Amino acid sequence: MAEYANIIIDISHEKLDKTFQYKVPGQLQANLAVGMQVEIPFGNGQRKTTGYVVELTDAPEYDVEKLKEIEAVVEDSVPIESQLIALAGWMRNNYGGTMNHALKTVLPIKQKTKEKKQRFVKLELGKQEARERLAMFERKNHKARARLLAALLEQNPLPYEMVTGKLNITSSVVRAMKEMEILSVEERRLYRSPFGEEFQKEKQRLVLNQKQQEIVEEIWQEFIQERHHTWLLHGVTGSGKTAVYIELIDRVVKEGKQAIVLIPEIALTYQTLVRFYQRFGERVSVLNSKMSAGERYDQFERAKSNELDVMIGPRSALFTPFSNLGIIIIDEEHETSYKSETLPRYHARETAIQRAKMAGASVVLGSATPSLDSYYHAKKGEYRLLEMTERIEEKPLPACEIIDLREELKQGNRSILSERLQELMADRLKAKQQIMLFINRRGMAGFVSCRGCGHVLKCPHCDVSLSQHNNGRMVCHYCGHEEPVPQVCPECGSKYIGGFKAGTQKIEEIVKKKFPEARVLRMDFDTTRNKTGYEKILSSFANQEADILIGTQMIVKGHDFPNVTLVGVLAADLSLFVSEFHAAERTFQLLTQAAGRAGRGRLPGEVVIQTYHPEHYCIELAAKQDYCGFYETEIACRKLMDYPPCGHMMAMLVASKDEMTAMLSAELLAKKVRQAKEKGKLPGLSVVGPANAAVAKVKDIYKKVIYFKHEDYGELVKIKDVLEDFINSHREFASVIIQFDFNPMNG
Ligand code: ADP
Ligand code: ZN
Ligand code: ZN
Repeated sequence: MAEYANIIIDISHEKLDKTFQYKVPGQLQANLAVGMQVEIPFGNGQRKTTGYVVELTDAPEYDVEKLKEIEAVVEDSVPIESQLIALAGWMRNNYGGTMNHALKTVLPIKQKTKEKKQRFVKLELGKQEARERLAMFERKNHKARARLLAALLEQNPLPYEMVTGKLNITSSVVRAMKEMEILSVEERRLYRSPFGEEFQKEKQRLVLNQKQQEIVEEIWQEFIQERHHTWLLHGVTGSGKTAVYIELIDRVVKEGKQAIVLIPEIALTYQTLVRFYQRFGERVSVLNSKMSAGERYDQFERAKSNELDVMIGPRSALFTPFSNLGIIIIDEEHETSYKSETLPRYHARETAIQRAKMAGASVVLGSATPSLDSYYHAKKGEYRLLEMTERIEEKPLPACEIIDLREELKQGNRSILSERLQELMADRLKAKQQIMLFINRRGMAGFVSCRGCGHVLKCPHCDVSLSQHNNGRMVCHYCGHEEPVPQVCPECGSKYIGGFKAGTQKIEEIVKKKFPEARVLRMDFDTTRNKTGYEKILSSFANQEADILIGTQMIVKGHDFPNVTLVGVLAADLSLFVSEFHAAERTFQLLTQAAGRAGRGRLPGEVVIQTYHPEHYCIELAAKQDYCGFYETEIACRKLMDYPPCGHMMAMLVASKDEMTAMLSAELLAKKVRQAKEKGKLPGLSVVGPANAAVAKVKDIYKKVIYFKHEDYGELVKIKDVLEDFINSHREFASVIIQFDFNPMNG
């Protein structure tokens, strides 16, 4: 029954990023709720607009006489949970950006879309007749028609998307067969599971092993006493974490509460989803980035109207409007995709913890290689640590072997495949087992190293690798330090110094030449560009239609290929010397995850890690799969440089179409802060840069970056606020775009 409402003007108006207070007329006082869309007069004239109620209050902030009244509630306006709006406010405060951006992130779209219909292809013939037609198509070599008919004999009806997608049949073939009255195309209301209706609930429940039970019980005992924590479940690859999540969710749902499960998109595979559908049937739904805003909205509507208990999806699933949220699970919590690269640049982990706090829910973070951040929090007692050190059924972790590529060079082998790896590959091919070759390629590596001694050029100030730029110079992405590319190695004098280049395509050629009889699949950005490429390659490999799968980090995430007994990491160093302070952490994660692909079935696995830096702690400890050892070493390095999580870092990106404008603005802002520092105003702050951003030019926009480091996150937020005010009140910044990025993940 509040008398005043704080309203944010319709979020499509980017410029009006603050709340305005309105009087709530008597007849609306009883029903108005936070999150409702309302009609309001705006500005001096008679203009009307719409806005969202962000807060209700009895305390006027302005002269009551001057406040205008809300005119009406927009018809059909459904209150978005006030909690989500509060969460948007928290995101805005903690990550920068505007309230508009934050609201747009937590609310998928504003208006109701038309009811979504799904198209199906339905068989119109009896089975016998269909089989006869199939035989005829096969005789006439009408491959697409035969394929569709065969699929319809298996499953009827088929979602249209599956026909044109997975089955790769053109709409003209469907049309032709429709004209032949073999099939029909019909529309139905959006069906529940993305797999059609064929889904069967599990017949027999997996019996949890003792470790899994202990973990479930520990979390559960706290949960039912309403002691909600953030748990970090550190379980080696194949230790049965997913089964733990499913059991926990089952219990949460039985208490009448809901669950959100975040999974990185790339690991959102059929295999995983099946496990959830088998347990929760129609009460689970999935989001993915290929969905339109309308489709996502539909799923959110279902969540709101109590049709669902479980939502699975990437980052954005976090904002599912469940009213009685009980648990949020974040699988593969170390994944960088949990950090948004658009405004607001939020981290799903931190935001999940905040949402759980507001909702009275628990959070479970799971990973075989927890982020340094999470482990650090766990060590400090902020999260509760749970460990699963063994694989299910005591399957051994794979044996790892490190191959020193410098030695290979000395022996005269200049191939990307070491002698040892070739030998093992030949052996596995003979035994009809499968092989995965992983090339560790992240973005633009660009580092320069010596193939004779392994030496890598590093920034003398920042302890990160230098990156080779198009102008031929070596550059530090943090402080801007530059130096020329050396002609010979400064360490050993070798002339084999230069950028390391090896793409998946090149490797495919080499492998095919060496093993002409092997069936090879390649998975990278080129081969997965279309919607279904990714699934096709994975399922083909799973069906053992190929012997060797070559790929980038795409192939290492969470897949279960029981027949893979050899994993080769071709150049572990490629991500180790990316010019950013996370490089070792990412490499350790990638290597451990890659190794985790081997030996998941009956047969034991083996891993070969090829490197120029066999003595690097990251490589050594990854080969031993010693997470704790890695954590201790790496955290000591971070401490030394005040890098997160041992302190906080805020990147300020300054972008402009004009390079000079970007640079001058960045310099001006850095100078401003440094001057304040000199006056003793900002104790504990360090300022690094400006420098070119890791990707210095995107679509003709030049990007500069300044880094701020402080022990206290809150202090950085304050500095951001001051800088934002300064920028907004000075016209010279009108042509630059400024963005903040807290504890950045890239560059
Ligand atoms: P993680 O998520 O830790 O990598 P998963 O949950 O995927 O591990 O489990 C690995 C494999 O072990 C899966 O094939 C899963 O079905 C199986 N599994 C998990 N728990 C059990 C159990 N209690 N008994 C038998 N098999 C199990
Ligand atoms: Zn050298
Ligand atoms: Zn530097």
